[in-house]
Amino acid sequence: MLSPQEQLRFSRQTMLKSIGEDGQQALKNAKVIIVGLGGLGNPASLYLNAAGIGTLYLVDGDTIDVSNLPRQVLFNDAQVSQGKADIAAEILNQQNSETNIEVLDEMLDEELADYYFPLVDVVLDCTDNITTRYLINQKCLEHKKPLVIGAATGFDGQYMFVEPNIADSACYQCLFPINKNAPENNCQTLGILGPVLAIVGGLQALQAMKFLTGNKVATNQLSIFDGFNNSWQQLSIKKQQHCPACGND
Ligand SMILES: [Zn+2]
Repeated sequence: MLSPQEQLRFSRQTMLKSIGEDGQQALKNAKVIIVGLGGLGNPASLYLNAAGIGTLYLVDGDTIDVSNLPRQVLFNDAQVSQGKADIAAEILNQQNSETNIEVLDEMLDEELADYYFPLVDVVLDCTDNITTRYLINQKCLEHKKPLVIGAATGFDGQYMFVEPNIADSACYQCLFPINKNAPENNCQTLGILGPVLAIVGGLQALQAMKFLTGNKVATNQLSIFDGFNNSWQQLSIKKQQHCPACGND
């Protein structure tokens, strides 16, 4: 049951037919882990926290750098060199003190994933590190946890939803097989503009909220945003039977 204060606070969400009070209660009961509190994790965590998610796990072992500030809008000059997950938790607590926030101020590894992923309802991949992306994908498959992946460089962004509880749902590795010779492209090497991250991180939060409130979220689809021309492209993708991560053989 929502308290009268919660009914008031979340009234613009509960008035949506596809959310309602039941949906708001589902958000309150939900546990979400956000891996990476950088450019994508900042907006995603802000919107999920504001929307009334009950428990947020924030994972990041990195510290705030002055070059993060143009896009990582939770942080300010005075916080440079402090831990991203710690500071994010502090700011989010001011935004909505009802959320139970757990800080994991270290980089995700196998052991952490094996411990925390079983505790949550959905995983947000907000990292910019390809090795961690494959690890998150693999661990979501193992623990049957829905995964919202986001990525952005330059003017371009993309996101996809992986639902291991649906038999034909393609995973990240179906789309991007591991290629050890592939260059590591991220915002350090290619640059990035903050609003592109706001769009992708916001969409990651939106997919998580739709999933948690029992609404349909498309699988087997990669959505690509071109922020220079303001255009979207939807690529249909297929589960690969030979995928080393999710394939059947
Ligand atoms: Zn796969």
